[in-house]
Amino acid sequence: MIIIMQPNVPEIEIKKIKDKLIKLGCEVNEYQSQNYRILGLLGDTSKIDPGLIKSNRNVDKIIFVNEPYKKVNRLFHPEDTIIKLLDKTIGGDHVAIIAGPCSVESEEQIIDIAKQVKKSGASFLRGGAFKPRTSPYSFQGMGNDALNYLKSAREITGLPIVSELLSINMLDKFIEDVDIIQIGARNMQNYDLLKELGRIDKPILLKRGLSATIEELLMAAEYIMAGGNERIILCERGIRTFETYTRNTLDLSAIPIIKKKSHLPIIVDPSHATGLWWLVEPLAKAAIAVGADGIMIEVHNDPSNALCDGNQSIKTERFDTLMNSLREIARIENKIL
Ligand code: PEP
Ligand code: MN
Repeated sequence: MIIIMQPNVPEIEIKKIKDKLIKLGCEVNEYQSQNYRILGLLGDTSKIDPGLIKSNRNVDKIIFVNEPYKKVNRLFHPEDTIIKLLDKTIGGDHVAIIAGPCSVESEEQIIDIAKQVKKSGASFLRGGAFKPRTSPYSFQGMGNDALNYLKSAREITGLPIVSELLSINMLDKFIEDVDIIQIGARNMQNYDLLKELGRIDKPILLKRGLSATIEELLMAAEYIMAGGNERIILCERGIRTFETYTRNTLDLSAIPIIKKKSHLPIIVDPSHATGLWWLVEPLAKAAIAVGADGIMIEVHNDPSNALCDGNQSIKTERFDTLMNSLREIARIENKIL
């Protein structure tokens, strides 16, 4: 339930109504926009008599929230969540570009790619250190060494780093080393992990599960937010359908739907969505055109010899050209890139 207060209600009156609701067993979340104040109620609201609340002259109206996700719901927080990180911004009018290889393969490789994507205008560097591979015999990532190489690349280029956390065991190390913690599609519903992420003060990039609905993605984000961490970036990375031509099917409609339903920023990963390098470019453009807050792209300096996902990685030169097109689309959309 959401209570929208009349404008300019004195603090003392707000406190009175809040105390009453807390006494009835609700958690009250406050949101203050430029023009109005909202009280978002969580927990068992069955003991609350809506008629009684409405009769309070300081209350403008009551909205019943039917969706199971509350804190990530736009009704609880009508304005976009904007995440600031060093000198970078994600959400609002900004388009964030996260680029880099699927996996860190050596210090030289990640530094070379970092320099090139930075020159082309990327705002963040991605690179897998621990890889969730379908086969246990495939390259599993360089682990801690990769994190050190990513840190060197950050030091040289100034690009904040994004890397995937696979398990709670490594959480402390990631809090120390990484700027944005990526939670991959396979871990989207690892609720123990999500609860731990709720307790930390670090932005989380939460990818949509392989077969997750939009509501399930938002509920996963709700787990993190319920713990107190509000800096969440959602990521559409394609879902499993009957189509086999592409690795996954990019659900572009999820972008405007999520922007309508939630205040959290949502970005698109056209690389894992398609699995094919030549599809990355058109779908990255489409993502910005439908209102995504950014994209995450796999870029490699030598895709044909990449240890992971070379087929879907674009070359650094191609990334440079793509950035020019993305800037044009962002301009038409009145976004900053
Ligand atoms: C990745 O980004 O490297 C990755 C493994 O993606 P996903 O979790 O979307 O499959
Ligand atoms: Mn990959």
